[in-house]
Amino acid sequence: MESLLLKNGLVVTMNADNEIKLPMDVLVEGGEIVRIDKEIKEKADEILDCKNQVIFPGFICAHTHLYSALLRGAPMNILPPTDFTQNLQRIWWPMDEALTLEDAYTSTLYAVYELALNGVTAYLDTYSGPNAIEGSLDRISKATQDVGTRGAVCFEQTERRSQEEGRRGLEENRRFISQNNPEKTLVYGIYCLHASFTVSDELMHKTVEYADKTNSFRTIHTSEGLVDLQHNLERYGKRTVERLYDEGFLGSRTALAHAVHINQREIDLIAETNTNVAHNPKSNELNAVGVAQLPEMLEKGINIGVGNDGFIYDAIENMRTAYLMHKLNHLNPSQVPTPLQVVQMITINAAQAIGLKDQIGSIEVGKKGDFVILDTSALPTPIHEGNVYGHMVYGSFSRRDIKRVVVNGKTIVKNGIHTSLDASQVSQQSKDSAIKLWDRLDLTPRVVPL
Ligand SMILES: [Zn+2]
Repeated sequence: MESLLLKNGLVVTMNADNEIKLPMDVLVEGGEIVRIDKEIKEKADEILDCKNQVIFPGFICAHTHLYSALLRGAPMNILPPTDFTQNLQRIWWPMDEALTLEDAYTSTLYAVYELALNGVTAYLDTYSGPNAIEGSLDRISKATQDVGTRGAVCFEQTERRSQEEGRRGLEENRRFISQNNPEKTLVYGIYCLHASFTVSDELMHKTVEYADKTNSFRTIHTSEGLVDLQHNLERYGKRTVERLYDEGFLGSRTALAHAVHINQREIDLIAETNTNVAHNPKSNELNAVGVAQLPEMLEKGINIGVGNDGFIYDAIENMRTAYLMHKLNHLNPSQVPTPLQVVQMITINAAQAIGLKDQIGSIEVGKKGDFVILDTSALPTPIHEGNVYGHMVYGSFSRRDIKRVVVNGKTIVKNGIHTSLDASQVSQQSKDSAIKLWDRLDLTPRVVPL
């Protein structure tokens, strides 16, 4: 059984009491944390001196679209979108329809690789490629395992083009879930509906029925833009979260992505059902959809994780935007979230928001050995138990300080370099896929491959 011993680190546990321990040793055996103590003298296969280093639980991205990596820098030959719906119609949906199974692998490999370099050891991804559905989740799983991180994966079920497409998406999720035991693999399957404005009650019922049968986690984009709210009000006479509540979609094994255009009644329903929310502040800024009512949701005790929605991969940067956005929105520099709350949103709360709270998100005996180890030597001021969260949000730490990224007790990133993957190969595979994808999207005339 392989073992790893971290010695003399400042351990930010993110446990229920938010304990910070200094200096402390952490022993991992067979991928699991077995002991946290002042001085562990047992032998281990690998012993790391973490003096002057901070040990965090691995960062977690609560909501993403890994395939979006292939769209970066694409020369858009379209009329610029002026609202969320046009964003979907002119950018995302044409891209979805052009994706192949090869793209599912190469985009995931690049994106998860980059997430890992940023200290992200687990993610929840929703994939959409309606012309290459069957087998897509296996490609995403393979790429994730090649990088060595954890993932919750699903195909984004939608009936935007046809009911048959929704049925096939549901079946791809059901198949992957049935074939992958979450206890035995780093990648596990969940159910996903795209958004309530692109699915029928029938598909929602079926998804709830299937998910309940296997106690599977589920997610859905929720009132990200006004179109979702307007659709549900016009067609069902209900607001989005009210419809999800009536259809039995809410609960502690559900994550709502965004939840921007919701009212107090909907916040109450999310709180009452212990439903999770994935907050994506940078994406909300990019798409100009509005500001989620994070302080109000926190006030109600709703569990919130931070995601990137396929945009910026730097977990620390996403966390900082979650910290700052609501202060500006409320014109109040003391507005929540606090530094502690945003660190929780990329660790323990994000773990809950992707259905893995029992396994990851904190440094505790019995949990998996997933860590981000940050070097403190470049900090301008001392670090101690009382200011760790402040150092995280006030600009002290960045990706450059990430010394190691560990998943299941195994180092996957050391001093900014992946331990088994070649950076140029990962990048080249992604570029090759992007060039072909852009060609299918009729964007090639302006592309000059390097
Ligand atoms: Zn999304």
